Amino acid sequence: MEHSTISGGVDAYLSSEDRAFRQELRDFFQTNVPRSIRDKVSAGQSLTKDDIVTSHRILNKAGLAVPHWPVAWGGKDWSAVQHYLYKEELQRSALPLPLQFNCYMMGPVVAAFGSEAQKQRFLPRAANLDDWWCQGFSEPDAGSDLASLKTRALRDGDEYVVNGQKTWTTYAQYADWIFCLVRTDVSVKKQAGISFLLIDMNSPGVEVRPIMTMEGRHEVNEVFFTDVRVPVENLVGTENKGWDYAKFLLANERAGIARIGLSKERVARVRRRAVENGRWDDPVFRGDVVRLEVDLKALEVTQMQILARAQSLGNRPDPASSILKIRGSQLQQRAAELLMEVEGASGLSKRGQGCDAIDNYLNFRKVSLYGGSNEIQKNIIAKTILGL
Ligand SMILES: Cc1cc2nc3c(=O)[nH]c(=O)nc-3n(C[C@H](O)[C@H](O)[C@H](O)COP(=O)(O)OP(=O)(O)OC[C@H]3O[C@@H](n4cnc5c(N)ncnc54)[C@H](O)[C@@H]3O)c2cc1C
Repeated sequence: MEHSTISGGVDAYLSSEDRAFRQELRDFFQTNVPRSIRDKVSAGQSLTKDDIVTSHRILNKAGLAVPHWPVAWGGKDWSAVQHYLYKEELQRSALPLPLQFNCYMMGPVVAAFGSEAQKQRFLPRAANLDDWWCQGFSEPDAGSDLASLKTRALRDGDEYVVNGQKTWTTYAQYADWIFCLVRTDVSVKKQAGISFLLIDMNSPGVEVRPIMTMEGRHEVNEVFFTDVRVPVENLVGTENKGWDYAKFLLANERAGIARIGLSKERVARVRRRAVENGRWDDPVFRGDVVRLEVDLKALEVTQMQILARAQSLGNRPDPASSILKIRGSQLQQRAAELLMEVEGASGLSKRGQGCDAIDNYLNFRKVSLYGGSNEIQKNIIAKTILGL
């Protein structure tokens, strides 16, 4: 049975230098990051802290963990297309992404709005994953409506005293630091009373409680703060301006969230497995795989068109990133479904033994929720693109 992949698509947008750049990265990723870690990513297995740190530090040593940071802090002077190719190749080669909380959230916010002392203290350690950061935004009654958050930081001399609760905090169990949105003024419109605070997870009064997800993994947590004392020097930027920094951070988070490369890697795996186990002979299944491949190509072309105008937007967030988020997460979920289908009932008995297709399927229900749910992205598109 013929099973060649679909060609064309993004390559039409690439110069020969871009293609050479991509090949160089591919060679580096596939030769330097251990196969055992990449196999886990490819099979949708859960990674240990050690896997993530090992891979991250290999990238940082080669100057490849934080290429999108300012050059002074380890960034690269790459074009928008080269940045895209970098992410795409990381995912195609099934590498764990450099820790998102360090590289795409805290780092860019501190680089853009932090004091010189904060930059010196936090950025190099974050780039090398010497400090593990987590994100303390969501609360039990503040998810989509994030500006309703209630965690309170009251000024007491040179310190803030923090009380409240965060939830869904990914990898808080590993974290040394948490960047938090806290309420510093209750007397103003809700967005206007929020600040961005860096809190040492080892401070007295911080408690982490696990939330087990439906596939049985410990990825997310609740974090409680009881009279936690935080030096004022850990405030980022200006007090009560935290909402502006949060919007900057969320646009950064959304920009990389389509994870087209990861879906491509998954669908390639589905093809391989289908050919091996005979499922490829089923025309309906074949049609589903090819449809996903075509949809990924279309999303990739859209991504390239959005990149082409990135230059003209400068630092402003592009509302079109909401389109990439919605479509990218739908395709990630379809790839997870096909991976589960190709493994069939026998996949159940293989849990934890090479291919965790079912766990991966359950785990990927999250991608249409985090980073701002897909319904919220539709609201953004309605307002900012359609002008409704
Ligand atoms: C696996 C996972 C990891 C996460 N990690 C982190 C983390 O590390 N740090 C962190 O701060 N947060 C994290 N989150 C939280 C995530 O950002 C929130 O789950 C998300 O913002 C949605 O908020 P919520 O869960 O409170 O749902 P809700 O806001 O209660 O929404 C429930 C449903 O209602 C819909 N809805 C809500 N408002 C509207 C509206 N105005 N219009 C239309 N539909 C609407 C939503 O789309 C959703 O389907 C994580 C979430 C998950 C699932």
